[in-house]
Amino acid sequence: MKKQNNKEYSLINNSKNENDSWLDDWRIQGQEGYLMNKYLVFRTFDRKLCVEDYDQCEFCWSVFDKDKHHPKKAYYQPDEKVWICEKCYNDFKKYFHWRIIETEDHS
Ligand SMILES: [Zn+2]
Repeated sequence: MKKQNNKEYSLINNSKNENDSWLDDWRIQGQEGYLMNKYLVFRTFDRKLCVEDYDQCEFCWSVFDKDKHHPKKAYYQPDEKVWICEKCYNDFKKYFHWRIIETEDHS
């Protein structure tokens, strides 16, 4: 009796590109739809620039101004009014192709 060959099924779930694995990071929640190829301003966190006091990183939700006397520097996207912490910036910059604008702080 001839045995059925099941080898062809092993490739079915292998179609995902290895380079897309960053999309499985828990911090990615659709940001690739609106933050891709944007420019970011590296500056001191300013609550006034947040939407409805959303003072957290757009990716990991870490809070920026826990210490109000020493606000952190972070990456700000003016069109979307979102902030990105330095860690998430470094983790995702190669996928999002961000351009950075350095600004002087006036505070
Ligand atoms: Zn973050």
